[in-house]
Amino acid sequence: MLNVMNAGKVRYKIPFNRPCFLGPEQDYMAQAVANGQISGDGEFTRRCHEFLERQLGVAKALLTTSCTHALETAALLLNIQPGDEVIVSSFTFVSTVNAFVLRGAKPVFIDIRPDTLNLDETRLERLITPRTKAVIAMHYAGIGCEMDTILAIAGRHGIPVVEDNAHGLLGRYKGRWLGTFGCLGTLSFHETKNFTCGEGGALLINDPKFIERAEILREKGTNRSQVFRGQADKYSWIDLGSSYLPSDLLAAFLLAQLEARDFIQAQRRRIWEVYAAELLDWARQHSVNLPTIPTHCEQPYHMFYLLMPSAAPRQALIDHLKSRSILAVFHYLPLHLSPMGRRFGGRPGDCPVTESASDRLLRLPFYTGLSKTDQEQVVAAILECKAF
Ligand SMILES: *Cc1c(COP(=O)(O)O)cnc(C)c1O
Repeated sequence: MLNVMNAGKVRYKIPFNRPCFLGPEQDYMAQAVANGQISGDGEFTRRCHEFLERQLGVAKALLTTSCTHALETAALLLNIQPGDEVIVSSFTFVSTVNAFVLRGAKPVFIDIRPDTLNLDETRLERLITPRTKAVIAMHYAGIGCEMDTILAIAGRHGIPVVEDNAHGLLGRYKGRWLGTFGCLGTLSFHETKNFTCGEGGALLINDPKFIERAEILREKGTNRSQVFRGQADKYSWIDLGSSYLPSDLLAAFLLAQLEARDFIQAQRRRIWEVYAAELLDWARQHSVNLPTIPTHCEQPYHMFYLLMPSAAPRQALIDHLKSRSILAVFHYLPLHLSPMGRRFGGRPGDCPVTESASDRLLRLPFYTGLSKTDQEQVVAAILECKAF
C-alpha cells in the first residue's frame, strides 16, 4: 500500500505543486549505493529503460538529465544547421524551442487551437518552406496534438516530427501512447511532472536508425555504450556529444515512481475529476472554459486549468485565492513576444489565439498528494469568489 508523503515547507497553505514521495524511492537509492554504481547507465537506469520501452512499445528509451537535454539530443540527431527552420507553437516551454535554436535554427511560430491549446494543424502546411527541417508537437496538458493530420502533412514534405511529451507520459491519441508518433519523443521527470526524480528526462526513439548515434551523443560523443555491451573493444571519440546521462541514484528514485504509475495516475485522475465536476456549473455561469478533452484523446491528468473570459478576472481570482493562502498560477508567456522571440521577428498579433489564451489561462493546485480536504478548500474558495 503506497502512501503519498508531501515534502518540504511551503509558503502557501495549498501550494501549486508539491513533489510526492511514495516510500520505495529511498530503498531503491540505497540499493544503488549498495550496488556500488551511482554513475549513469547502471542497473536502475537499465530498468527505467526497460520499463519505458515495454510500457510504451518504443524501439529505445534513453534516460537523460532533463527533457531539455533530450530535446537537444533530438536537434543533434536531426542535424539541425544554422538557417534551418523549425515549426513550433509559441505556447510552450522555452526548451522546446531553445534546443533547436542552439543549433542555429530559426523558430517559425505556429498558432494554437482554441480548444486544446495545441499547435493548430490547419495552419501547418502554409508555414512549410524548403528550409523547414522539423515540426515540434508539444502535447499541452498531455492532451494529444492532431497527430494524424500533422504526420500526414509533414510526411508529404519529408519533414521529421518530434514530440515534446513533457506533459503527456501515459496520455494517448486514438489509443496510441503519446511520444510514439514522431521519429523522436521526449519526456520530463522534473519535480512538476507526474513522475519525477527532481530533474530528469528521457529520449524516446521510434525510428531505430537514430539509436546508435543517440547513444554516442549522450555519452560525450564516445562509443562507451558499445564497449559496455562488448560490441567494441576500446572506446573512442566518434562524434559530437555531451554528458546527458543521469546518475543511477536518480534512476533509482525514478523507477520507484514509474512502478507506482497506477497509484499516481489514480490519485491524479480523482483530483482532476473533482475539479471538473464541482466547477462545471460555476464555469458556465461565469463564461469560464474548462479543459477540452477530445473523445479520441486519453489524458494523463497532468494539470487542471481554467480559461477565464479575460486577463482581469484571472488576476482577480489569483488574488482571491492568494488571500486564502492558495497558489494558482498562469502559464507560458508567448515565446514570439519574449525578448528572444522578438529577435526572430516576433510581433504582437502573430499568434492571436496564443496571445489570448496566455492572458486568460490559470492553473489550479494539482499534485499527486493534494488531499480531499485541501482540494475542497480550493473549490470552495473559487465558488465564493465575488471579484468578477
Ligand atoms: C517541463 C517541460 C520541459 C523541460 O523539462 P526539463 O526536464 O525541466 O528540462 C520541456 N517542455 C515542456 C513542454 C515542459 O513542460
